[in-house]
Amino acid sequence: MTDCLFCRIVAGSIPSTIVHRDDHLVAFRDIDPNAPMHVLTIPTTPIATLNDLSSEDDALIGSMFRRAAAIATEHGYADRGYRTVFNTNRESGQTVFHVHLHLLAGRGLNWPPG
Ligand code: AMP
Repeated sequence: MTDCLFCRIVAGSIPSTIVHRDDHLVAFRDIDPNAPMHVLTIPTTPIATLNDLSSEDDALIGSMFRRAAAIATEHGYADRGYRTVFNTNRESGQTVFHVHLHLLAGRGLNWPPG
């Protein structure tokens, strides 16, 4: 659990601003935010990319989206709007190979993304 960056955040061995933690998920503030609210939600067990999911992960991925929606709601962004994104592999810009759902809110977000 300690050989990848986000595993260390789960373990608490490097600092992060945690906004939610339960047995299966941790959500924390992105260290280099791209919006007034930028939170990453990750599973406590590492999965490298969306390509590595199995049907056993369906509930986990669903719970990540529901958690992101709950965090957006708690911070007043549910009606204004927000974006949830998984980047996968090189051309998407994925840099950390432990799946993470970005939650971006608090400004107008361009579409299509760059
Ligand atoms: P991605 O490019 O989709 O892999 O996103 C990785 C995200 O992790 C980026 O938005 C980074 O700013 C963020 N990040 C990297 N290191 C940390 C850290 N120690 N704590 C919080 N966020 C981080």
